Amino acid sequence: MKRIDNHLPTVDLQRLDAAHHMHPFTKGDELNAKGARVITKAQGVMLTDSEGVEILDGMAGLWCVNLGYGRSELAQAAAAQMDQLPYYNTFFQTTHPPVVALASRIAELTPEGMNHTFFASSGSEANDTNIRLVRQYWALMGKPDKKVIISRKNGYHGSSMGSASLGGMAFMHAQGGMPIPDITHIDQPYWYAEGGDMDPAEFGLQRARLLEQEIDRLGEGNVAAFIAEPIQGAGAVIIPPETYWPEIQRICAEREILLIADEVICGFGRTGEWFGSQTLNIRPDVMTIAKGLSSGYQPIGGSIISDAVADVINSEEFAHGYTYSGHPVACAVALENLRLLEEEGIVDRVKSEAAPYLAKKWKELEDHPLVAEARSIGLMGALEMSPDKANRAPFKVDAGTVGLRCRERCFANGLVMRHVGDTMIISPPLIISKDEIDLLCARAVQALDETLAGLKSDGLMQ
Ligand SMILES: *Cc1c(COP(=O)(O)O)cnc(C)c1O
Repeated sequence: MKRIDNHLPTVDLQRLDAAHHMHPFTKGDELNAKGARVITKAQGVMLTDSEGVEILDGMAGLWCVNLGYGRSELAQAAAAQMDQLPYYNTFFQTTHPPVVALASRIAELTPEGMNHTFFASSGSEANDTNIRLVRQYWALMGKPDKKVIISRKNGYHGSSMGSASLGGMAFMHAQGGMPIPDITHIDQPYWYAEGGDMDPAEFGLQRARLLEQEIDRLGEGNVAAFIAEPIQGAGAVIIPPETYWPEIQRICAEREILLIADEVICGFGRTGEWFGSQTLNIRPDVMTIAKGLSSGYQPIGGSIISDAVADVINSEEFAHGYTYSGHPVACAVALENLRLLEEEGIVDRVKSEAAPYLAKKWKELEDHPLVAEARSIGLMGALEMSPDKANRAPFKVDAGTVGLRCRERCFANGLVMRHVGDTMIISPPLIISKDEIDLLCARAVQALDETLAGLKSDGLMQ
């Protein structure tokens, strides 16, 4: 067996990477000039780079390695499935054991009445499925005008044309002609940044009622669905005020529209339940899944569909699918991942131990002079940095300047923490121990101290 090893010196890997590999969401020239960091292996919550430096992965890869790195059970599940049946499709009235087993297992974990999964290989693909699914649903119901999907500004639903249009990332829409037609966006429940002097509960209600206003503006007969992440992840771990979701749920119940919960990050234990919808008491018609479904060990995603919606969709041919929908190897790995999450009690442990512990340690970071707010739910958290904490004021330099500096100080101190503007965010593997949470917080404080010192010496802060 030929391994792809770390046999080349780092500079050579970086040179070849710069010459031939184009990175997602990256200014190529800038990265190529300095060289990408090369990650060569990982175990538990720790990454190792090509220079042998250990880094605590506070992001679980990209919100996905819920089980942590180095679980050979998953490697073995993949190898065994490749030996048995590496690939077969599910288009032509065929199926195979791994997809049957995974779809059945998912149906056991989901809220009542959500028993059908349409598979994809990513969250983006699954959300593209959802666009077609909800429109086809209303067409079959004799209401073909119900096409518009309402989403939220600063939501993230993927990077394909359809899913990025659902998303509300203005900087993405600025390239390539998005959003596609019949998708609109309402304001998000981001109290820290947009709540002003309002009390959070009142702000949450106001932002939820924007959905009702948007349905009225468009005409209920033209609206197919509302899509939202239970907790916005890429937007900056935005935890809505407690009033928000109950009010959204009321509106969805009163109006004839479908609710899509994008569970790509929240699903599979991140919030301390199997799904964010359970944590937040949301009753969706469709849930998008990916990331934690396989802990990132294989690319797999899907749409979990309610019995009521599936009954309608099943009455006609749904002219949609991907070559790799229900890929046997990805399904086998996802199934093994779910087995380990369950048998090792990892989701329960998040709820009863890890999340409360993180919440306490994380909140203490509000004592730091740079941190205006430290919030967390389950095992995801955010730090809002501000030069004027009492007023939640932004810095006097371009948004993201300080965040980027802090991210670099994190890297230099052996921690992956991501920045969204000047908000620092984490979403570590669910298996993180208390000692590792302590280490994460200690490294975060070190990075914040160094960021603050830099801001002071540059005159950006007193
Ligand atoms: C990452 C993400 C997606 C897109 O998933 P990909 O696998 O990157 O296509 C969709 N929705 C949410 C909430 C995500 O965080």
